[in-house]
Amino acid sequence: MAEIKTIAIIGAGPVGLAAAAHAIERGLRPVVLEQGSAVGHAVRHWAHVPMFSPWAFNIDGAAERLLAASGWSRPDPDGYPTGGELIDRYLAPLAQRTALRDAIHFDARVHSVTRSGFDKVKTTGRDRAPFALRYASAAGEQTLLADAVIDASGTWFSPNPAGSGGLTALGEREAAAAISYGMPDVLGEVRARYAGKRIAVLGGGHSAIGTLIALADLQERAPETRIVWLYRGAALSKAFGGGAADQLTARGELGMRIAKLVERGLIAVETAFQLERIERVEAGLHLVAADGGGRDVAVDELIVATGFRPDLALLRELRVELDPALECSPALAPLIDPNAHSCGTVRPHGAAELAHPEPGFYIAGMKAYGRAPTFLLATGHEQVRSIVAEIAGDHAAARRVELVLPETGVCSTRPGGPAVADSGCCGGPAPAAVDACCAADARAKASGEAGCGCGGAPVRGAAHEVAEA
Ligand SMILES: Cc1cc2nc3c(=O)[nH]c(=O)nc-3n(C[C@H](O)[C@H](O)[C@H](O)COP(=O)(O)OP(=O)(O)OC[C@H]3O[C@@H](n4cnc5c(N)ncnc54)[C@H](O)[C@@H]3O)c2cc1C
Repeated sequence: MAEIKTIAIIGAGPVGLAAAAHAIERGLRPVVLEQGSAVGHAVRHWAHVPMFSPWAFNIDGAAERLLAASGWSRPDPDGYPTGGELIDRYLAPLAQRTALRDAIHFDARVHSVTRSGFDKVKTTGRDRAPFALRYASAAGEQTLLADAVIDASGTWFSPNPAGSGGLTALGEREAAAAISYGMPDVLGEVRARYAGKRIAVLGGGHSAIGTLIALADLQERAPETRIVWLYRGAALSKAFGGGAADQLTARGELGMRIAKLVERGLIAVETAFQLERIERVEAGLHLVAADGGGRDVAVDELIVATGFRPDLALLRELRVELDPALECSPALAPLIDPNAHSCGTVRPHGAAELAHPEPGFYIAGMKAYGRAPTFLLATGHEQVRSIVAEIAGDHAAARRVELVLPETGVCSTRPGGPAVADSGCCGGPAPAAVDACCAADARAKASGEAGCGCGGAPVRGAAHEVAEA
């Protein structure tokens, strides 16, 4: 009988758990190492945020099959969960009521991965050595040996800094007590911190806009609250999207709401604001722009919503090849490059595109996209289905495309709503054989251009966009 392969999975987020479910289905032995004390440790930080994709796109196939055997009742596929509901109705039952229960180790933070006995430089015999994962646990430092590794550790805990050019702003570390990253629950858990204060939100994606809208709600109840939006771009039109004419209703709605709040003067705006320096003063913070004009915004609190970047430190001893700009695998980069297109309709991809020079090692999920902001759970589920098939030796299944997204890609809004192909955005989906996000992208690439550049603004309902501007 062939020996059962052990797959070490870093992270018990939705993608790590999906990978473990596929491994169990294939008779492999998954061992999930999770730094938090419960599943969805990163998702818990945005538990209050409504997801933009419905349940139908948020549940992995293998996970669902395991859950079905446990008597689980599937949520309405057309419903939109919050992050908290994603945990309560899906991730927690998956971890508690199925065979995954015995596979997950909590409070286990992986800090380095190598080939046992082989530092990065040694080649001969390397492929035959098991992986060794060093992790910190309540019992002290431990080592796990595994035949393959899937790093599904996400990017939530390494947010981009506030400074322009990707740098930490001068004084940012010293001012940490008055800075939050991501999407703090300003209407719930941390309401007291923000009510009645002067707050700046830095960023131009949906995280920034969602937080600004929540702060405006807070302002209705605590009228002294002052909100300023620090936007790196020159004009807000990109952040607003297409309004009522937007092909994507949900994005249009969000854009129209924020546009109205700005128009009514409830949110002040500083455009082309490249943050250089944060000065702590007795009455709060001075946020100083790098434009030489001495622009200086005085606030009590700063919320930084400028996206995330992968933490690559734990992979230092592995032979990992990354795109120099996006920090994702080189084969994936042209599919997701936000400079070329932002449809978010990424061609299905799996083990082949995600392979590294270190056989048996893969990065999956949010972290697989590196710095690109358009990752979708459904894409992650397809990634791990293919990766696990490859590890199990089922190369045909690894190469087969089984993406559960609609043919039109995810440039649709609500189920039943207008999809890209119907609405004509980018001329509909790309031909299946072409490496492009949509028909226009395919045409542009065929004529030697980088891509269609469709819309410039990342698309709500198409892909989550947490970075930029
Ligand atoms: C606010 C927000 C809303 C989103 N909405 C949607 C949506 O509607 N639809 C959609 O498809 N996508 C959405 N996304 C994008 C994406 O699907 C989610 O970020 C998703 O959680 C990514 O899953 P993941 O498993 O790759 O990573 P994560 O959910 O980040 O999970 C990673 C896990 O790894 C653990 N970990 C990290 N480092 C280590 C370590 N060194 N050792 C051990 N464990 C570690 C973390 O604690 C965490 O539990 C959203 C993202 C955000 C931030």
